[in-house]
Amino acid sequence: MKILFLASECAPFIKTGGLADVIGSLPVALAERGHDVRVMIPCYSCIPAEWRDRMEEAARIDPLFGWKREEARILRFVDRGVVWYFIDAPSRFSVYLIYGDGMAEAERFAFFCRAALDSLDALGFFPDVLHCNDWQTGLVPALLKAQYASRPGYGGIRTVFSVHNLRYQGIFNFRHLNGALGFPEDWFTPDKLEFYGCLNCMKTGLVFADRVSTVSPTYAHDVMTPEGGDQLDGVLRARGDGVTGIVNGIDTVSYDPGRDPWIAKQYTAADYAEGKAACKAALQEETGLSVRPDVPLIGMITRLVDQKGLDLVHETLHGLVDRDVQFVFLGSGERRYIEFLGRASETRRGSVAFRCALDERLAHRIYAGADLFLMPSAFEPCGLSQLIAQRYGCVPIVRETGGLKDTVRPYNRFTGEGDGFTFSNYSAADLGDAVLRAVDVYRNCPEAMDGLIRSGMGKDFTWLHSAAEYESLYALVAGDRVVTTDAPKGKNAGKAAEEPKEAHVKKTKPAGRKKPAAKGKKAD
Ligand code: ADP
Repeated sequence: MKILFLASECAPFIKTGGLADVIGSLPVALAERGHDVRVMIPCYSCIPAEWRDRMEEAARIDPLFGWKREEARILRFVDRGVVWYFIDAPSRFSVYLIYGDGMAEAERFAFFCRAALDSLDALGFFPDVLHCNDWQTGLVPALLKAQYASRPGYGGIRTVFSVHNLRYQGIFNFRHLNGALGFPEDWFTPDKLEFYGCLNCMKTGLVFADRVSTVSPTYAHDVMTPEGGDQLDGVLRARGDGVTGIVNGIDTVSYDPGRDPWIAKQYTAADYAEGKAACKAALQEETGLSVRPDVPLIGMITRLVDQKGLDLVHETLHGLVDRDVQFVFLGSGERRYIEFLGRASETRRGSVAFRCALDERLAHRIYAGADLFLMPSAFEPCGLSQLIAQRYGCVPIVRETGGLKDTVRPYNRFTGEGDGFTFSNYSAADLGDAVLRAVDVYRNCPEAMDGLIRSGMGKDFTWLHSAAEYESLYALVAGDRVVTTDAPKGKNAGKAAEEPKEAHVKKTKPAGRKKPAAKGKKAD
């Protein structure tokens, strides 16, 4: 199948959270299974030069956005069997923050949606499935139906819309934005675009996509309920075809303690004790914690927002530190949490460390060096950190919600089975209790701890199973198109990469060509 992913971020080029990890690794897994897979993201000016230097121009477009045309280049390079496209529109994406507030952000991603659709014609690449992700791409299924479906090549495209986090919806002033988008005015109704008097990009994706998915079965269930639906549960229920929940995998090459170049000592499940001890000492040293092998060290790597249970951490941290437990926090986000953790790291110097940064390397060293990993989320669509932590033998302590419930089996002290420590109620007391249970096992039951570490490190976190589930979903939306599920790994992926289909188009439609104005006008 021909599959094009659209998203606002993608590792390793640009990342603020788990969405980037998914967009950087699921397409590779699908390409390895024989599909022609491509990914398109904005070309932010903060994408490092090491990647920019590898990009070449694939096409030029000049989408009509409001009353004027805006020029943009489609840059690309091929890596790991996938064609990675970047929409280079400096007037839109030359900012450091990839997410901001207000109309600038609304217009930026509305432009991205318009440009992505225009680029298909310019590239001569019409996918069977256009896989949109989160609100930043939510307008695409509606634009496709309203303005592109009758154009040559576009009619056969089917859309999948994946929700990575329903909380962020992209809600904007309809009148303002529609000046640039040109939806029919009579589409501004509650069954289509309207949401409490505004345009809601997430809702638009949920209404107009051919199929909706999210990143774990439990979250798929939760978003259909008033408690977990963030005011969109009714929209989801009204679709009638439900939400498909597919758990994320991780990039097991980048996250591999046996080969990780950023950690103090590499290790595998067979010899983790020595490796993790070295990583722990190095982490304690690096972050200013007392270098003590015996003290349980708990890591937390997260966006510092309500969702992640920081208010529970706020309530329990000092009491837990009093029990001779160390914490290392890495994250950025809301000021109140930054200030709290900053203060805690000063008053509990040697026991609490905090780095306010986005630091991929330190993140790897925390996964490798910490004994336990804390994720007390209020809700969690899937969560990748608990998967990465398990791969590094860092035993998770999680709240039983969404993907955390689907990926961490609670430790059973009678049978020894399980992967981590869990609690159910969103309360500081229950979080404290779960941490103390984990600390007790760490201190007093080394064999049980060994079992937990080995269980986590032995789990299969590759995309193998989930990629097959996405294939089934794509087959469902694309109807009778043939799906290849048994292609040998990597065989066709390399071929697609060497012979990108738009090469021919580039020759016949030279870069820089202008589309006839009439065509653009009709479309918009
Ligand atoms: P979310 O997408 O909600 O932020 P996930 O658990 O799905 O949460 O994914 C978080 C990803 O971002 C993980 O790969 C985690 O290691 C990474 N991450 C989060 N905060 C930071 C940070 N401050 N520095 C480096 N990596 C981070």
